[in-house]
Amino acid sequence: MTYVVALTGGIGSGKSTAAQFFADFGVPIIDADLIAREVVKPQTPAFEQILAKWGASIRLPNGELNRSLLREHIFTHPADKIWLENLLHPLIQIEIKDAIQKVQYPYCIVVIPLLAEHYADYQAIIDHVIVIDAKPSQQHMRTIERDQASSELIEKMIAEQASPAQRLKIAQTVLTNDDTLSQLKKKVSDLHTVLLKTGISKTPIA
Ligand code: ADP
Repeated sequence: MTYVVALTGGIGSGKSTAAQFFADFGVPIIDADLIAREVVKPQTPAFEQILAKWGASIRLPNGELNRSLLREHIFTHPADKIWLENLLHPLIQIEIKDAIQKVQYPYCIVVIPLLAEHYADYQAIIDHVIVIDAKPSQQHMRTIERDQASSELIEKMIAEQASPAQRLKIAQTVLTNDDTLSQLKKKVSDLHTVLLKTGISKTPIA
């Protein structure tokens, strides 16, 4: 069984960037956001249930789920948000566990953006938590640049997420991303050396 390292952080903190640096070292990456998209692909049971609840207007012309419309809707309808979370979270967790089972490497990185918000659901399957932390002003600026989004929307999204303090509470390692990309890469490289050693020591020899 591989050593399971969760990577989390607020929007624009640098999760995807750090995950890519780990991947460059050959570390398997499991991405909860990608899985969340997979479980609502057309013809999946979750897709059918969402369609039954909201009707055909929740689809895009290409037949895929209109995820941004759904996101907007649940933002203002808390009961529907709970309904959707109850439907999707167990499915996402099953897929994450399944992907972990298949890893053939001393450790893997599981990127879970909302880990602090749902820690109780994941605690049992995670061995180590890395929280990537950037200054709110950097998160803000980097997200605006990346998504071409409005400052107000980013502000709202940051306010909706767990606070830095809540995230730091679950961290075994804090990866500070307040410098250049090459600094981040160096920190990931150092961490990779440690995690590889830990993973090797904890992984039973077949
Ligand atoms: P997240 O996945 O946490 O939302 P990303 O990894 O996508 O964040 O990073 C947000 C944006 O900031 C991306 O465009 C990324 O290239 C950029 N970025 C991340 N870290 C740095 C850094 N140290 N210096 C400059 N830009 C960065």
